[in-house]
Parts: sequence; structure tokens; C-alpha cells
Amino acid sequence: MDIIEKIQAGDVRAAARLITRVEKRDPEAIEIIKAVYTKSGKSRLIGITGPPGVGKSCLVGALVGEFRARNLTVGVLAVDPSSPFSGGALLGDRARMSDHTSDSEVFIRSLASRGASGGLSAAVNDAADILNVFGKDIILIETVGVGQGEIDIARIAHTVLLVLMPGYGDTLQAMKAGIMEIADLFVVNKADKPGAEKTASELAGAQNLSCPSEVETTWIPPIVKTSATHKTGLDDLVVEIFKHFDFLDTHDVIQAKNRERRTKQFLDILSRQILDEFMAELDKDPALQRWVKKIGNLELDPYSASEQVVGWMKKARGAEKDLS
Ligand code: GDP
Repeated sequence: MDIIEKIQAGDVRAAARLITRVEKRDPEAIEIIKAVYTKSGKSRLIGITGPPGVGKSCLVGALVGEFRARNLTVGVLAVDPSSPFSGGALLGDRARMSDHTSDSEVFIRSLASRGASGGLSAAVNDAADILNVFGKDIILIETVGVGQGEIDIARIAHTVLLVLMPGYGDTLQAMKAGIMEIADLFVVNKADKPGAEKTASELAGAQNLSCPSEVETTWIPPIVKTSATHKTGLDDLVVEIFKHFDFLDTHDVIQAKNRERRTKQFLDILSRQILDEFMAELDKDPALQRWVKKIGNLELDPYSASEQVVGWMKKARGAEKDLS
């Protein structure tokens, strides 16, 4: 049985090993991703983002329970763009997800940056594709904060949950740029504490001021109050998530989202590959090294140098235009 068949047959260790290998950009693993690419696209990707401490991990654990109760299989990718450590319990997810570790239909995995810029989004895309082949109906992608790295990763998801907690109205003002417009659902978690109602109305107020995104002009993100620890509001949250799934399907937004995601994935891969190629050339070509040195010696400006490299690429493309 090859590795794809093993994963399709539900072999957890094979899936986990393949994710580790794509994280390391192992060329053989990349070949496997190429082979499964056209089979991807069945899973629903849900992004969960928000400031640290609002209860995202607990909420993810609770949501896993809700989806499993509805007979859906679930994968969890816990992503930390600021951490170089991976594959372990870095987000404490193992502990918080302990309710589900014996459930073979739940797959949980941490991913971290390993210092490569753009590399983490690539790893999340690839891991999501592997979990798709693995047959997961729902893939939850949890990020630790609300920085640019988290926003980029949340964009991979079809449905993005922004989680806040009582007293976070002010924080919301500060992070409105970027994060407000990618949220499809707002969750005020820790609703067992005072002030949830106030935060929910502050959110509703902020929402009126923000512009709708290009693809989703008719979806108004609902605001749901939950308590992950007291297990309240979870049913409402799942109902709203399913409503968003329906919205995506009935308005063909899902295709637009998928196209946007895949185009960005391609451009990320392309830019990294071009740079890798150039660096490999530079490593072995003394003439190229002397030429790059000119930039440092102020004999050649970096814009002209870059234009010259792009010129070489254009020439090569002129000779080789097969776009079939
Ligand atoms: P994250 O950093 O956003 O992932 O937050 P965690 O899931 O690690 O939770 C942070 C803390 O908030 C933990 O001590 C949780 O027990 C607590 N917590 C999470 N959800 C709730 C909730 O709904 N109500 C209350 N009171 N505490 C919660």
C-alpha cells in the first residue's frame, strides 16, 4: 500500500508522518501533495483566531465535541506563527483536547514557523490537503493571536471565527484593521463572566462601521456568546457555522474563496521557489557573486539588479511558452 492509500484508509501515523515531511519541505512529500491536489476540496476549513487567553483552545476542544456529536470527522491544526517549535504540545492543545485523544476520528496537530517566512502558510495548506485526503469533514485551524501571520493563515479557511471575551471592546478598536473584515462570525467567549452583553454590542457597533469584503456583500457576521468551559452557546455557534456553510454554497462564494486561496498558495510557492533557485545559482556561480557584490559596493542599485534578473526570466519564458 502506498502512502496515499494508507492515508485514505485512515492510517493516523502515515498522515502525521507526511505532515512532518511537508513541513520540512521534503521533496518526496511535495510529490505526494502534487498527486493529491486534485482530490482536495471536500473538507470545510474553519479558522479560529483572536487574542491570547480568550479561550480559543478550549473552544476548539468544545467544537470538536459538537461536530463529533453530529457524526462529522474532525482534524485540528494548531498554528503558531511566532514559535519555531512544532509537532509538540506547544499550544497546550494536547491537554485541552484530552477529551478527544482516544477518538480515532479526531486528528490533532501543531504547526510552527521554523523561521521560514511564508513557509507556515504553505505547511498549513499542505496539512489541510492531507487531512482532506484523510477524509476529515471539518478542519479547524486555530492560531494563537491576531498579528499579520495569523490573519494570513486565517484567510486559508472558508469560515473564520474571531474569538473575543468580555472586556475586549477596546482591544477590538486596536485590531479592527485587517481582522474585522476577515471574520465571518464573532464569538464572545467566557459569556459566563459579566460584560459579555456589552462586548457583543460594542462588536455590533464596530461592525456597522466596517466595510463588507468583496466576495461577501450579503453576509452579516453574526455575534454568538459562548462559554467553552460551561458548555453554553455551543449549539448556537454550530448552527451559525452551518448557516455560513450554506451561504458559501448557495452564493458560489466557496469557489471564489477556493480560487483566491489557491492563487495565493501558488504565488507563495512561486516566489519562494524563484528565490531558492536564485540563491542556489548564487552559491555556485562566482560571476553572479561578483555581480551581486556590486550592489553592496554601491556600483549597482538593487532595483536595476532585480529588473535584470526578471529580464532573464522573461527571456526564458519567451523561449518556453507551453501553458497547456
Ligand atoms: P487561548 O489562549 O485563546 O487558546 O485560551 P485558552 O483556551 O488557553 O483559555 C485561557 C483560559 O481561559 C484558561 O484558563 C481557560 O480555562 C479559560 N477559559 C476558556 N474558556 C472559558 C470560558 O468560557 N469561561 C471561563 N470562565 N473561562 C474560560
